[in-house]
Amino acid sequence: MAKNKRRRKRSFTLMIIPHDSSNPRTHKINKVLILIIVFLIVGIITGSVILYKISSSKLTRVKHLEILEEVTEQQKAQLKELENLKKKIKELEEVEKKLKQILGIKGSIQVSPSKVSGIPLNLKTYSDLETFNTQRKILEMKAILKEKEEALAYIEKEINRRKSILAVTPSRWPTFGIITSGYGWRIHPIFRRKHFHEGIDIVSFWGTPVYATADGFVVFTGWKSGYGKTIEISHGRGISTLYAHLSSIKVQSGTYVKKGQLIGLVGSTGTSIGPHLHYEVRRNGIAVNPLPYLNLDLIKIGSLK
Ligand SMILES: [Zn+2]
Repeated sequence: MAKNKRRRKRSFTLMIIPHDSSNPRTHKINKVLILIIVFLIVGIITGSVILYKISSSKLTRVKHLEILEEVTEQQKAQLKELENLKKKIKELEEVEKKLKQILGIKGSIQVSPSKVSGIPLNLKTYSDLETFNTQRKILEMKAILKEKEEALAYIEKEINRRKSILAVTPSRWPTFGIITSGYGWRIHPIFRRKHFHEGIDIVSFWGTPVYATADGFVVFTGWKSGYGKTIEISHGRGISTLYAHLSSIKVQSGTYVKKGQLIGLVGSTGTSIGPHLHYEVRRNGIAVNPLPYLNLDLIKIGSLK
């Protein structure tokens, strides 16, 4: 009797009463079974929630790591670029310094101001402030590099300018020999009186070649009183050269000659006591000392006034 009572307590009866005329149905349900089912459901739900939490936190961490990796890659690339730019700037600075020294260019070369401030930088494109700042530094370096390139381009232009000036500037010896009389006041070797010698006398052998000392137009060939057989070449910009006492003239008036071209031969025509070349350099018609014009090059021409 007591055993039956305990069994009844452990279970309950579920009665289903149909709405039609059929008889009600009763189902005896065990309380323990219900509890097990409830526990199972709660367990499954809790487990699922925990699993979901763990997996979602793992996913977030992976995503975070991926972003970090991306940032590091971006920073790595930036630092490499920055390093390359610094290296290039240093190299160009060295070249600029050396060239300026060689060419005798003093002071800094004026270039157009850097346009750093004008470069748009979108903060949103960068993952953090550090990356943004590095990018800004890169842009600054690029602007400096551009300035250095401009300075070198200026130097290149200056070299080309000097080259073209050098071509039309008396810049070499007109013949082989020894200077026996310089430019300036002297006692005339024949007339024995003080006079101004407007050129230099280069003593040489009879028939030694005489060369044009710069590109230019032959403006005179022929006999000149005192000078004998003479050639005059105009080099433009008011500069001309004169070659006198020649034994032979090898060019015609009106022709264009190049620097180093044979124009005549050394002789002793005109007022002369022996074979020599009387050589003059004139600027705007006035004879100047030819000595500085005997050995001019790209470097020396920079300091020529
Ligand atoms: Zn002379």
